[in-house]
Amino acid sequence: MGLDIRINLPKPGETETYDVVIVGAGPAGLTAGIYCARGRRSTLVLERNMAGGQIALTELVENYPGFPEGISGFDLADRMKRQAAQFGAELREITTVASLQPEPDGCFSITTDQERVRARAVILSPGVEAKRSGIPGEAEFVGRGVSWCATCDGALYKGRTVAVVGGGDSAVEEGMFLTKFADKVYLVHRRDELRAEKIAQERAFANPKMEFVWDSVPRRIAGSQMVEALDVQNVKTQEVRTLPVNGVFFYIGQVPNTAFLQGVVERDEAGYIRTDDLMRTSLCGVFACGDARSNPLKQIAMAVGDGSLAAVQAQRYLDELDCSLPGAGEHRPAWGGPVAVKAEAAGPSPAAPAGPATP
Ligand SMILES: Cc1cc2nc3c(=O)[nH]c(=O)nc-3n(C[C@H](O)[C@H](O)[C@H](O)COP(=O)(O)OP(=O)(O)OC[C@H]3O[C@@H](n4cnc5c(N)ncnc54)[C@H](O)[C@@H]3O)c2cc1C
Repeated sequence: MGLDIRINLPKPGETETYDVVIVGAGPAGLTAGIYCARGRRSTLVLERNMAGGQIALTELVENYPGFPEGISGFDLADRMKRQAAQFGAELREITTVASLQPEPDGCFSITTDQERVRARAVILSPGVEAKRSGIPGEAEFVGRGVSWCATCDGALYKGRTVAVVGGGDSAVEEGMFLTKFADKVYLVHRRDELRAEKIAQERAFANPKMEFVWDSVPRRIAGSQMVEALDVQNVKTQEVRTLPVNGVFFYIGQVPNTAFLQGVVERDEAGYIRTDDLMRTSLCGVFACGDARSNPLKQIAMAVGDGSLAAVQAQRYLDELDCSLPGAGEHRPAWGGPVAVKAEAAGPSPAAPAGPATP
């Protein structure tokens, strides 16, 4: 158990106010947690599942520096979590953030499915989740042969046949992982070449258990109790082929977990949070990092870099507040362009203490 350095403990009936509240405990959020807590800022990390984010669902990470033999995603996530706790970051798991609102006193109100907390600065790191294909049978067979996580479910397919849909790094790497269990893995891709890294492609092409189904898209999943077949259609010939499979794993892209931020901070057309180079969102005092941010690379190294910069910037912002520089404590745009929400829109908070807590 880490040292709890909270100094803004609420009186009975009051809402807790932290220096920094971090939304999401993937690599970006945990890194931000390490930096903020190590900077002696009271830090709360809120996580809707268990800490670790997407890497906790990744069998082997080979491209994160410092681990020449690779490291299991679960172990890497666990190390990050322990490191954050060691410096005093408080982590609340199974806690989903439902809304974020600026308050008139310059703090932010964060409502979860359990409670409400306050923060003087907020770091958003909610990451992304797997895109659904929407084909018939997908929703029906969730947990009965349809999956988005080979690491979680792969062992169930010992001696069976599965299909992986997608052509990027995740599809190829997770498809390779599935060959440890399954006798055969079809890789269904809508184009005639993969997008995955060359080294991953070379390994996949050399694996006799992998069969590539090019230029094809999934059309229907069929079965009785469990998945029994996947219909795929060739986009060039329109021919439909039925693959006899026991499982279908989708890796066809991602959507950012940012719906709860609608109208609060600026997002791009796809829903990713817009920031400047210093990880500042359109709302002063709110920072964003990792896969949920509008950035060109969705990888752990990027998320970790983002998280550290967001945390340093959040601490500089708090330093400014502590020094009571002109304008500190007011909600204002962080950078050019319209502010999605102004402080006045949030309305007063009855349980809120008089002003931002100072360490
Ligand atoms: C199968 C797979 C394999 C991968 N392999 C690699 C690899 O080998 N190397 C590599 O560098 N990258 C890999 N990646 C990508 C890497 O995992 C991500 O880039 C990285 O996890 C992004 O970190 P993040 O913290 O931004 O987001 P995430 O890891 O997505 O974490 C976000 C966290 O926020 C939580 N959250 C979301 N919404 C809320 C909410 N409203 N309230 C509270 N919590 C919330 C989520 O539950 C999640 O835990 C892989 C990804 C996948 C899917």
